[in-house]
Amino acid sequence: PSVVNQIAAGEVVERPASVVKELLENAIDAGSTRVELSVERGGRDLVRVADDGSGIAREDLPLAFRPHATSKLVGAEDLHSIRTLGFRGEALAAIAEISRVRCQTRTADSEVGSEIRIEGGEASEIKDCGCPVGTSFEIRNLFFNTPVRRTFLKSDTTEAGHVAEMFTRIALAHPTIHLTYRSAGKTLYDLPPVTGLKERVAVFFGRELAEALLWVESEVDDVHLWGYVAHPSQSRSSAKGQYLFVGGRYVKDRSLAHALAEAYRGLLMVGRIPVAFLHLELPPEEVDVNVHPTKVEVRFRDSQRIYGQLLRTVRQTFLTSDLH
Ligand code: ADP
Ligand code: MG
Repeated sequence: PSVVNQIAAGEVVERPASVVKELLENAIDAGSTRVELSVERGGRDLVRVADDGSGIAREDLPLAFRPHATSKLVGAEDLHSIRTLGFRGEALAAIAEISRVRCQTRTADSEVGSEIRIEGGEASEIKDCGCPVGTSFEIRNLFFNTPVRRTFLKSDTTEAGHVAEMFTRIALAHPTIHLTYRSAGKTLYDLPPVTGLKERVAVFFGRELAEALLWVESEVDDVHLWGYVAHPSQSRSSAKGQYLFVGGRYVKDRSLAHALAEAYRGLLMVGRIPVAFLHLELPPEEVDVNVHPTKVEVRFRDSQRIYGQLLRTVRQTFLTSDLH
């Protein structure tokens, strides 16, 4: 394993939660209806994700771990019309470089499953295995061969917290997928599919908050904004209750957070930050998700316009509802 590869891997994998994000996104891209996540020691010893998605054909299995191998981009023009969560083909290669990986997978048209193990980037032969249709990944001993990175990990509890946050983002973005999360042998969440975002909000933030949500929606040209904002009384002292999804992908955007704060202007107590769960759907050419390997930040072609739409939509909702 070369130092260069390990540095590149560090761009994608900062901590166990980064592994969780990539594996969950891959499971969703594979069309899964059920995805199980379990971790040991906050993910530093083990991250396991099992899904019932498409599976990976045996001949494609080694390819999946090769840098820049993705089955999700067909032509260069595809970069402008990304519909899947992944597209860089970097994640599995990066993870395999700095951990011990076992992957078992089976497609529906295959009688027998395939298993591959990769340690520090070195792949084993592919073996037969018995497994259901779908894919399971076990990532053990993250950073075992990069001791310096390992020292940057925080306590198991802190790492488990980051994992839980990643799980929350995915669960909020994909309410129709059955998701489970086990940590240290305990099932923390078992979330059957639900039709709406609101039910998932109730799971993570409580019934009281979920009952205090106001629906917001607008469509301006081809920018569709929808979701919920919480009654001002539900505001928090941190931004921990703010979730924005662009094309189903969790993003952080300071400008839109500011637009939201503007919409609540005059309605909040000092130091309070609004709670909101918002989705933006816009044509792929209107947003660049390719800014950073972990894709948490995006760039809008016309951010002023989105800012204005969010501000006006939320304002309008407050004006037309009775905020007693
Ligand atoms: P990307 O998601 O950007 O394509 P990844 O490195 O995350 O890159 O994954 C590489 C490839 O491995 C994917 O393009 C996909 O073909 C395959 N793959 C990964 N995880 C799964 C999964 N859970 N089910 C089916 N195929 C998968
Ligand atoms: Mg991926």
